[in-house]
Amino acid sequence: MAVALLVAAGSGERLGAGRPKAFVVLAGRPMLEWSLDALRAAGIDDIVVARPAGYEIEGVVAVEGGATRSASVRAALAAAPPGDVVVHDAARPLVTPEHFTAALAALEEADCAVAAAPVTDTVKEADAQGLVMATHDRSRLWAIQTPQAFRRAVLERALAVDDELLAQATDDAWLVERLGGTVRVVESTPANFKVTTPYDLTIAEHLLADRLSPPPAA
Ligand code: C5P
Repeated sequence: MAVALLVAAGSGERLGAGRPKAFVVLAGRPMLEWSLDALRAAGIDDIVVARPAGYEIEGVVAVEGGATRSASVRAALAAAPPGDVVVHDAARPLVTPEHFTAALAALEEADCAVAAAPVTDTVKEADAQGLVMATHDRSRLWAIQTPQAFRRAVLERALAVDDELLAQATDDAWLVERLGGTVRVVESTPANFKVTTPYDLTIAEHLLADRLSPPPAA
């Protein structure tokens, strides 16, 4: 059975809510509880949460997070029981149980599998002056989310790097890529977005409130 690492130790400065983002109340509950529900509904009960110092969480193993996101993943992994691993950001409260099961199932054919949404905007690369240098082929681009699933030994090896390299990683799959590991995308939707700004929080609040009491059918 797989184990889950839920990273919830970020400060959430961009959200400006006055407390760590994962503990901001969303549709009546701390944000991280939505991800815990989805994990348990997927049958994943071994969960390690990386949390900020001073915040306690019932019913899970909790460790103090690190200075960067991947440092928090590494701290959580060190406390996790054996098994393949699925890593998830507490900042994505709209995750579903199917996201976890699909990512883990894709490990049959890869070292790592990541939830990803096809890019719908045109993506251009610009220099520091704002001059466009290139337009990328959108049909091959994916916006990467979590969950990200890993074979245990692969994630352990990928995270065994110095703190400087760890700080460069905006996701853990990149650390697997640089070792030459195989990483697959598992198609997701933009609905599994990361709550970053106050606008995101408003949208997430509406969507989760609808889950609690769905609007009447038209
Ligand atoms: O900052 P960002 O929103 O990209 O963070 C993604 C996730 O990583 C969040 O759930 C956040 O709580 C977590 N994180 C962490 N430790 C850090 C930084 C971020 O657990 N040092």
